[in-house]
Amino acid sequence: MSKPIVRFAPSPTGHIHIGNTRVALLNALYARREGGTFILRFDDTDVARSKQEYADSIQTDLNWLGIPPDIVVRQSDRFDLYDAAAERLKAVGRLYPCYETQEELEFRRKRQLARGLPPIYDRAALKLTEEDRARLEQEGRRPHWRFRLEPTTVVWDDLVRGPCHVDCSSLSDPVLVRGDGTYLYTLPSVVDDIELKITHVIRGEDHVTNTAVQIQIFEALGAAAPTFAHHSLLITASGEGLSKRLGHLSIKGLRDAGLEPQAVASLAVLVGSAEAVRPVADLGELAKLIDFSHISRAPAKFDESELDHLNARLIHEMPYEAVRERLAGLDADAGEAFWLAVRGNLPKVRDAADWAKVVRGPVTPAIEDMAFIQAATAALPEAPWDTTTWKAWTEAVKAATGVKGKALFMPLRLALTGLDHGPELGALLPLIGPERARARLSGQVA
Ligand code: GLU
Repeated sequence: MSKPIVRFAPSPTGHIHIGNTRVALLNALYARREGGTFILRFDDTDVARSKQEYADSIQTDLNWLGIPPDIVVRQSDRFDLYDAAAERLKAVGRLYPCYETQEELEFRRKRQLARGLPPIYDRAALKLTEEDRARLEQEGRRPHWRFRLEPTTVVWDDLVRGPCHVDCSSLSDPVLVRGDGTYLYTLPSVVDDIELKITHVIRGEDHVTNTAVQIQIFEALGAAAPTFAHHSLLITASGEGLSKRLGHLSIKGLRDAGLEPQAVASLAVLVGSAEAVRPVADLGELAKLIDFSHISRAPAKFDESELDHLNARLIHEMPYEAVRERLAGLDADAGEAFWLAVRGNLPKVRDAADWAKVVRGPVTPAIEDMAFIQAATAALPEAPWDTTTWKAWTEAVKAATGVKGKALFMPLRLALTGLDHGPELGALLPLIGPERARARLSGQVA
C-alpha cells in the first residue's frame, strides 16, 4: 500500500481548540505511524475573516503538540486551480448559474414546506434560456453557481462509520461559487485533495453530507475519491459542542494554563475510542492506539477536569531529563533528586518553583510548641544527610519525647517548610540541608 498523505484543514479565523486537535492528531499520528505525509492546509478562501495571526497561532499550537506539519499550503495561493476546475465543471454542464436572491429562495422554501415537500432547490435556474440570463444580468444580477448533483445514492466505505449511503436526490444542488465570485469551501477542498494526492480524508462527522457531494465532484473532475474517515466530535460534559469562542479550551488557553501537550493529546485521541483515557507520554505510542474502526459513533463527551488528572499523572512519571530545561527556565532546577522528590505533588510543572523555594528558602517556619522543636533539634543527626536521615531523626525524637505519629511529623513539617502538606520529608530534608534546617527550627526565616 502506498504511504498515506493526509491533511488538517482549519480556517484561520480563530484559535484552534481541543476538538480541532482531535482532527489534527488523528491525521498527524496516523501519517506518522504509517510513514506518510501530514499536510497543514489553511482554508482561507474567506479572505476577510482569515487572519495571519490565527494561521501563526495554529502552527505554534501544532508545534507545541509535537505534530509539526511536513507541508503547509494555503488556499488563498491556489485560486487559479479552483478557477480552472470551475471552468471544467461549467464545460460539462455540472456547474450552472443561478440568479435567485436570498428572499426568493426563502419564499420558495417556505412554500415547499407548506405543501409538505422537502425544501430542496427546485433547479429553476436550469430552465433559464440565454435570453433570460442576459436579461437578469442586465438588471444587475450576478450569478452564483450551483453544482448539479446526480440523483444517485453515493456510497463509500468509511473507516469509522462503515458503509455509508447518502441519497443525493434529497439534497439541494450546492452553491460552489458565490455571486461575488468567491468560493465556498466545497470545491477548493476537492481540488486540493486531488492536486495534493490526499489518500485519506480524516475529519469530523459534521462533514458526512459534504462527503457525498464531494465524491460527486471528484468524479465530475475525473478523479478517484480518497478514503474517508469521519470521527465523532468532542462535546463538553454538559453536552455542548466546541466552538472557537470557548477560549479556555483553546490550545493556547490550555498551554497558558500549564497543561502538558501530551495530556491534551491523550484526551483528544482516546476519548470516544475503545481505549481507556490515560496519559500516554510518547506520541508514537499514542499513534499505535488509533483504530478508526473502534472510534465510537456517538459524540465523545469529555470532562475538562480529566485534563488536570492526566496532567498530574504524566508529571508523576516524567523523567528529570525531559523537564530539566523547563525547570531551569522557571529557576526551579534544584537537581534530579529534587525533581524526583516533588514531581508526585505537582499539578503543573511550573508548581515546582514553589517547592524549589521550600528547599532553597527563604521559608518562614510555623512553630507552635517551641519546647518540642528544641527537643527535636537536639536529636538532629550529624551531617552529611541523605534520604535515611529523616527516619533516623524522627526515631530519635520519638525515643526522646515519646511523641509519635502525626503529632511528631506535623510540627516538624510546619517548622521546616512553613506548610502542612507537601512531598515526603525523607526526600526534602537532605535537600533543605543542615544549615537551613537548623535555622528554621530555631524560628528564623531561612
Ligand atoms: N475547513 C474545513 C473545516 O475546518 C475542512 C474540512 C475538511 O477536512 O475537509 O471544517
